[in-house]
Amino acid sequence: MILPFLFGAVVGSFLNVCICRLPEGVSVVFPPSRCPACGANIPFYYNIPILGWFILRGRSACCGATLSFKYPLVEAVTAVFAVLLAVRFGVKVELFVYFAFVSALIVVTFIDLKHQIIPDVISLPGIAVGLVLSWVMPVGIVDALIGVLLGGGILFGIAAAYLLLTGHDGMGGGDIKLLAMIGAFLGWKGVIVTLLLGSFLGAATGVIFMVFAGKGSKFPIPFGPFLAAGALAYLFFGDELINWYIIKAVGP
Ligand SMILES: [Zn+2]
Repeated sequence: MILPFLFGAVVGSFLNVCICRLPEGVSVVFPPSRCPACGANIPFYYNIPILGWFILRGRSACCGATLSFKYPLVEAVTAVFAVLLAVRFGVKVELFVYFAFVSALIVVTFIDLKHQIIPDVISLPGIAVGLVLSWVMPVGIVDALIGVLLGGGILFGIAAAYLLLTGHDGMGGGDIKLLAMIGAFLGWKGVIVTLLLGSFLGAATGVIFMVFAGKGSKFPIPFGPFLAAGALAYLFFGDELINWYIIKAVGP
């Protein structure tokens, strides 16, 4: 429990750097951690994952700028997922592959929430890495390949149809590439469950927003975080979800 938690927290600290720098197209390796407000170097003892933010009480030591609660949140979420994955999959190759996959989903979620984009530098290499690693994963290369084509194809079809019917871009290309990446790691069943759960969660959230923000309000709700949530649900409960659905729909 402790080892995966610590490992996850340290990786989460790196994910924070990715979340901040990838949308700006800046290197995630160099320079080392800097204050987001004044650019001063951050001494290592303030870089302790999760705890650092609380030691500083949410303010930077150099200039007193407010540090977003997002930083410890990302570290804690990553740490918790490292533990959950270790419990679910044990210390096997799946653990490390799925941890990389979940890390990518965490970065995508936080970037999409803030900027309404999903960077290609995550999804495109993610598709390639997922396909290569599928050789050693339970999903297998054929299922992963179908997953990529199905994931990319379904959303591309929906986006093209929407554009044709309304003349507007309804869905970002980022979502298409993200679902293709999810297909590479989870296979074609994962794509279908992810899309169903993601659409349901997204629609439910949209309704809640409309109730609270007023019906006429145009509020762009990014789809990426819902796809990520659907993929995580499938990763942990996929077999149970499919069995439950089959029993409900067809009977045991
Ligand atoms: Zn500063």
